[in-house]
Amino acid sequence: MFAILFIFGVAIGSFINVLSLRYDEEKNKILFTSAIQGRSRCRDCAKVLCWYELIPLVSYGIQCGTCRGCKKPLLWQYPLIELATGLLTASLPIFLYQHLHGAQLTAQGLSLVWVYIAIGLWLLAVYTAITLAAIDLRLKIIPDQANILLALIGVILVAIKKFGLLDYANFSGSYATMLGAPANPIFAALIAAGFALALFGGIVYLTKERGMGLGDVKLAIPLALILGWPDALIAFSSSFVIGSLVGLLLIAKRKATMKHALPFGPFLIIGLFVAVFWSETILRWYFGLI
Ligand SMILES: [Zn+2]
Repeated sequence: MFAILFIFGVAIGSFINVLSLRYDEEKNKILFTSAIQGRSRCRDCAKVLCWYELIPLVSYGIQCGTCRGCKKPLLWQYPLIELATGLLTASLPIFLYQHLHGAQLTAQGLSLVWVYIAIGLWLLAVYTAITLAAIDLRLKIIPDQANILLALIGVILVAIKKFGLLDYANFSGSYATMLGAPANPIFAALIAAGFALALFGGIVYLTKERGMGLGDVKLAIPLALILGWPDALIAFSSSFVIGSLVGLLLIAKRKATMKHALPFGPFLIIGLFVAVFWSETILRWYFGLI
C-alpha cells in the first residue's frame, strides 16, 4: 500500500512543481489554463523535455541533477517536492486511518465513508499546502486562493467533528485537556484562529512587516481552523523552532544575513505536518522535562 501511494504521490508532486513554477504573480491564479498547457522545458536553455526526462525523481537521479541540453543544474525543488509529496501521500492516509479508528469501524461492520472523506480532505490540504510553500519560497507570496481552499477544508473538518461523524480526537491525544482543549470543536477552531490572529498579527504589527508579512497571518488562520486548539499551538511552536534553526544555519553558512528574511510560509506548513504526526510525542517529551 505504502509503495502504491508513494508512486501516486510522487506523480502529484511532479504536477505541483509545474503549477508552482508556472504560477503567475500578475494573474494571481494557480490553476489557469496556461499553467497546465504546453510542454515542459528546461528553465535555462528552453529545451523541450522528452518523456524520459519527465519521470519524477528517476529523471533527476539519472541526469545527476543537470539538464541534458545545457548541463546546468536543475532546481533542487523538483526532487524535494516530489519526494515530500510522495512521502506524505503514502504516510498520512495510513496514519489517519489508525487515528480515526478505521480498523475498529471495519471490525464493527460500520461504514468507513467519513474516514475516507477526512483522508481525502487532508490530502487536498497537503497538496494545497505544498504548492503554496513552493510558491512562497520562490516569490515570497502566499496566493489567497490557496488560503481560501485551506480555510474551506478547515471548516468542513470542524463540521465533521461537530456533528460527530467520526471519532476525531486531537493529534495531541491525552495532553489536549491539559492544554485546555474545549469539548466543542467549533470553540477549539475559534480559539486556535484567534490565537493565530493575535500571535502573527502582533508580530507583523510590531516588526512592521520585516520578517513576516500579512500573507503569513492569512495562512496561519486556515491552518488553525484545520488543526484546532491545542494542536495549532504545537504547529506554530514547531514552525518557529524549525524556522529559527534553518535561519541560523543559513547565517552560519553566510547564505543569508539577518536582514535577508526567509519566507515563513514553508515553515508554517512544516509545522502543520509536525503537529499531525508528532504532537503527542513532543508533548510527552515536554511534560517529561518539567
Ligand atoms: Zn537546459
